[in-house]
Amino acid sequence: MSKAAVKPLFQEKLTRQVRATIKGTDAKDPVALQYLYDVREDILDVNERYDPIGDNAHSPVPAIVHRYPDRALLKITDICAVHCRYCFRKEMLQEESGVLPQDTLESALSYLRTTPAIREVILTGGDPLTLDTTRLGALLEQLEAIAHLDIIRIHTRIPVVQPSRVDTDMAKVFSRLEKALYLVIHVNHVQEINAEVQEALLKLSRTGAVLLSQSVLLKDVNDSAQTLEALFRKLLSLRVKPYYLHHPDLVKGSGHFQVSFEKGQDIMKDLRGRVSGLAQPHYVLDIPGGYGKMPLTPSSLQKDAHGNYTIEDYNGVHHAYPPKREE
Ligand SMILES: *Cc1c(COP(=O)(O)O)cnc(C)c1O
Ligand code: SF4
Repeated sequence: MSKAAVKPLFQEKLTRQVRATIKGTDAKDPVALQYLYDVREDILDVNERYDPIGDNAHSPVPAIVHRYPDRALLKITDICAVHCRYCFRKEMLQEESGVLPQDTLESALSYLRTTPAIREVILTGGDPLTLDTTRLGALLEQLEAIAHLDIIRIHTRIPVVQPSRVDTDMAKVFSRLEKALYLVIHVNHVQEINAEVQEALLKLSRTGAVLLSQSVLLKDVNDSAQTLEALFRKLLSLRVKPYYLHHPDLVKGSGHFQVSFEKGQDIMKDLRGRVSGLAQPHYVLDIPGGYGKMPLTPSSLQKDAHGNYTIEDYNGVHHAYPPKREE
């Protein structure tokens, strides 16, 4: 461990909704831990990175990340309604320049139009639902006009951190779509889901969108089977299917959120015995360097006699974890 303050502080950013779901002033509150600055963030580990999942390795044009042939990310904005302390794109979010400039957006759309192998576009950011409804509607119309796209997916935290944003106009924009719309909602603890959030999720599901969730496994926030069981049961009852449980990425200053692979695997095993198969997400690691997400199963994750891990990517290539420094 080395101690250094090389980058400006990732500013705290919370919504009224988030403040309302923090219970008291307890520093151990599972919502507060996700959003309030913690001095432990200034402890940097040599294995941590500014681009922990290797987005930059697969960016053919600005704002597009095309790692798998059939699907591509479109990072439409660098603004989020909140700043999660463990954010894997926090370097990008620090600047807050907003929605993509028109020429960058045009070249990104042109890449999508001229790459027929892409069947699915994933809007991400930042948070795509921070766009105003007119802009969001216009973007979705442009995507809808690309014949080879079957699926539009949106990764968002808005329904959980700013449920009032999910209004009738937004619902109309979603209802109009002919292509399949998947909304993947980032949520980590059942305490984040109050009555307003429930209402927003139900409103979204009535648009015909398929709702999925993704959570990050975070020490002291949700690293127990019991906590995740409560979250996943709640989500399923609100028509949201748990999709991914992410092992925390090696983000700079995230040491206090890290959980061991063994603990993650034990939690998954425990969950299998506790809840419906519907409530079982894939427990995945995004392999540093841009090698993709892999389920953390006993066959893909191996530990040698010296205690070093390797993870096998979908091409069958093994990668040291944490990665070697020069990678
Ligand atoms: C996570 C991710 C996707 C989507 O992966 P799925 O496994 O389909 O959810 C696509 N592209 C990139 C670059 C990603 O990081
Ligand atoms: S919602 Fe996602 S992108 Fe936005 S700050 Fe949180 S982790 Fe980062």
